[in-house]
Amino acid sequence: MSVNLASARISRGLPQAAVACVAVVALAFLLPGEGYYLNILMQAATYAIAVSGLVVVLGYCGQISIAQAAFFGIGAYGVGIGMVDFGIGFFPAMLLGVAAAGLSGLLLGLGSLRLGGHYLAMVTISFQQILTLFLTNWISFTHGPDGIRGIPRPSLMGVSFASGHAFLALCLVFLVLSTLTIWRLKTGRLGRAMQAVRDNELAAGTCGINVFSTKVIAFGISAVMGGIGGALFAGGFQYISPDQFSFSESIVLLTMALLGGVQSPFGSLVGTMVLVILPEWLRFLQQIYLAVYGAAVILIMVFLPDGLWGLMLSRVIRRAKPIEGSVEPLPLLSERAAASNDYVLKVEGLAKHFGGVKALDGVDLAVRRGTVHALIGPNGSGKSTFINVVTGLYRPTAGKVTFTGQDITHAQPHERNRAGLARTFQNIRVFRGMTVLDNVMVGAERPGNDIAENPAAVVERALAALDFVDLRGDAHRQVGALSYGHQRYVEIARALASSPQTLLLDEPAAGLNLTEKHELGELLKRLGGHGLTILIIDHDMNLVEQVADHITVLNFGRRIADGTPSAVLANPDVVAAYLGEPRHEAA
Ligand code: ADP
Ligand code: MG
Repeated sequence: MSVNLASARISRGLPQAAVACVAVVALAFLLPGEGYYLNILMQAATYAIAVSGLVVVLGYCGQISIAQAAFFGIGAYGVGIGMVDFGIGFFPAMLLGVAAAGLSGLLLGLGSLRLGGHYLAMVTISFQQILTLFLTNWISFTHGPDGIRGIPRPSLMGVSFASGHAFLALCLVFLVLSTLTIWRLKTGRLGRAMQAVRDNELAAGTCGINVFSTKVIAFGISAVMGGIGGALFAGGFQYISPDQFSFSESIVLLTMALLGGVQSPFGSLVGTMVLVILPEWLRFLQQIYLAVYGAAVILIMVFLPDGLWGLMLSRVIRRAKPIEGSVEPLPLLSERAAASNDYVLKVEGLAKHFGGVKALDGVDLAVRRGTVHALIGPNGSGKSTFINVVTGLYRPTAGKVTFTGQDITHAQPHERNRAGLARTFQNIRVFRGMTVLDNVMVGAERPGNDIAENPAAVVERALAALDFVDLRGDAHRQVGALSYGHQRYVEIARALASSPQTLLLDEPAAGLNLTEKHELGELLKRLGGHGLTILIIDHDMNLVEQVADHITVLNFGRRIADGTPSAVLANPDVVAAYLGEPRHEAA
């Protein structure tokens, strides 16, 4: 059954890794001769490990880093200084270097990740430059511009890695292990969280992902990979100097990642091989070789935005098997919870001012457990702002938000989601680079969800949510390939899979065509009939009247009516401000 997908994935990795390691060791020893070719391969292998770190930070998590050569250098100097100056063994020195790289990665991440885009790029460049200055000028510690010579190669449990073949084999084993680890990371919970952050930070936060720490972890992993690559580089070439870890090397590493395809460690491997080997091939061109090399790289990047790996994948027909079998229905929808008088969500005196605009001005609202509560009002009356403040995307100017008895007025979006508050957005916010199933799994993995720690159950819960919106057949498709209406369903399924206490739907029909609106209406009626607590914003009064147990009306950020549908829709203020004309018999 497909439900065992995730556990099967885990046990499948180990034999693969063992076979691949044996294969690369054999390969290393079968290569002819010492010297030139071994050096090129050693360089490619150690670079590729560092580049796979960029796959994590840039490809998975979407954060630009132009400092990978710095982490590479920290790993290399850990080995160089550790072995030559302090006389410790290769592996302990490597551990120190990698730890130092990882730590600086985490610190850089902590300090700079609140900044995005260009600013983050600037900060990483500065870090890179600082490291170069440090390596060049602190001569007593780093040996300065002369670099460190005579770095010995290790032996471990009687096996010597002194020969070029043996050390290359060691590098290749590390390369295989790091490539597989990073490949596996992508399909796990952390990797999904990173991709969610990359695709839509706001939505990731409201799906229970701690956006900040996810970015910091991505930075840390990336730096560790840089450090491992650098440590092996130092052992392989036995000589290191500051210019090997300069800004321009960071650009080379970044180019390798982008050229091969930053979405996959296999892509980064391809990109690294090409960029290490291409210059060697082109040497016969003598003076013009650099120009040809540069032009080739530019052409590949312009015409292959997904890199060489993306091109290879698109040539291979990848047909994911449909997911068959039945799963348990969504637990929160399996029985009708009785509507009760206790309030799940309670909002008191909520205000949100944007400069002079009072988007919300002292709004009170309380949602009873097991009911459908509609929030209506003209455009610009503050409905979306209300949901944004309640889910923590905006800080309130005044007021208090209580959810299941806890004061969450100042909680982060992911903390509110963890407490069981799920939402959809007026402007769809799905994770466009991910599959339908992965999108919904992010919801199911909400920390605090009963099944979040069990990968197989997460898949099952996600499939159950997809069944509910009738999208199981599209589970393996990219979300971006779906119609607008179906993307909306994915958003709803993502929220349902998190087994929320309360679901907030902000104009779910916005942007849909008539057929899609009709389908959605049916879906909402089914949902409403299940006794899930829902707060819905919608302009379709027929639908609102059919599903809502209670209605609150906003106008210019103020609450102008609150009560049962028949009372509210007959209220003259509501008719004047919003409905335009009285609705049927109630008038
Ligand atoms: P509704 O969802 O009811 O159509 P909104 O909550 O989106 O209304 O907007 C209410 C008011 O707040 C509008 O005047 C809008 O221009 C303003 N507003 C909403 N979000 C922001 C923002 N991020 N910055 C400035 N003004 C905003
Ligand atoms: Mg709105």
